[in-house]
Amino acid sequence: MVPAFDLRRQYKNIREEMDQAIARVLERGRFILGEEVAAFEREFAAFCGVAHAVGVGSGTEALHLALRACGIGPGDEVITVSHTAVATVAAIELAGARPVLVDGDPRRYTIDPTKVEERITPSTRAILPVHLYGCPADMEPLLEIARRHHLVVIEDCAQAHGALYKGRPVGSWGDIAAFSFYPTKNLGACGDGGAVVTNDPALAERVRLLREYGWAERYVSHIRGLNSRLDELQAAILRVKLRHLRAWNERRRQIAALYREHLADAASRWGLVLPEEPEDARHVYHLYVVRHLRRDALRRFLEERGIGTLIHYPVPVHLQPAYADLGYPAGSLPVTEALSREVVSLPMYPELTDEEVQMVSEALHAFWEGTS
Ligand SMILES: *Cc1c(COP(=O)(O)O)cnc(C)c1O
Repeated sequence: MVPAFDLRRQYKNIREEMDQAIARVLERGRFILGEEVAAFEREFAAFCGVAHAVGVGSGTEALHLALRACGIGPGDEVITVSHTAVATVAAIELAGARPVLVDGDPRRYTIDPTKVEERITPSTRAILPVHLYGCPADMEPLLEIARRHHLVVIEDCAQAHGALYKGRPVGSWGDIAAFSFYPTKNLGACGDGGAVVTNDPALAERVRLLREYGWAERYVSHIRGLNSRLDELQAAILRVKLRHLRAWNERRRQIAALYREHLADAASRWGLVLPEEPEDARHVYHLYVVRHLRRDALRRFLEERGIGTLIHYPVPVHLQPAYADLGYPAGSLPVTEALSREVVSLPMYPELTDEEVQMVSEALHAFWEGTS
């Protein structure tokens, strides 16, 4: 039995620190925007190599507030991908803007920079790349296009805490960036949470206002805002886990190297496509996603052997019922559509043992060799 995820293993390893952090908050009796959130914001900004971090209610809200802080709203268009968590597109619509979807890069699976410029119109305000599966998007060409067309760049870093592009952390490349602390992310809370990071003090201040009713002082709204706050308990938990994040990401990379070693011949003999690690990037393997034309049969085979897998994502956003009216018929984003048919995420979390990685790899071999 190798589950697709198992957060109990993580808790077991850091139980004492976690229990102490939780007790500290309960004993202090302050639960909203206190010293834990302030301390976490400082520590997380330093981790990302940026000046400011603002804790918010979720990754979706982080994207939504980042967009609004940039003044993006009704009548504006934001260029992003269809091969992503639906949250990316939902956040653009929450801000009142229109998502414009482009295809993915066939090797990196992130936004294809060569497809962006043809979709720019007079209404385009921003490019929103997603660092998918832990692999940084190819930022330099995107930043160059953004400069030429006076567009804002908003990074969706929900799957890439600690990933580096050209030696610098994701989240520090664009104008502003959003992180999610959904429990299974590389840095996960015990509930919902998110953060907006930026080097721009004015943008950070706007997010601070937006997350709490536009209050500059209590009960007086300076702009129209909402309630989207990271809470003290989650911040205290995230501070504990942040101390382990570098080591956890390193272990994910080790596991990826083991998979690569065990599966190299499956790649050359049976057409299994392994994730590529671009030379300009330090991938943090939020997910270990392989591709195969017989994905569904492969997945069933693994399931029967007690190996949990997931599909990220089975239906691209543009083909989901809720988004049919965005106007992208089947066939319009071919790389995205091929990915959604072929990808499968193998177990990937720092607590996975070398033996389990080997078990998963052997089960994959058995699928093609007809042994088992
Ligand atoms: C998880 C995720 C989000 C949303 O984060 P939540 O905290 O679940 O709201 C946004 N974008 C991507 C790419 C994600 O993986």
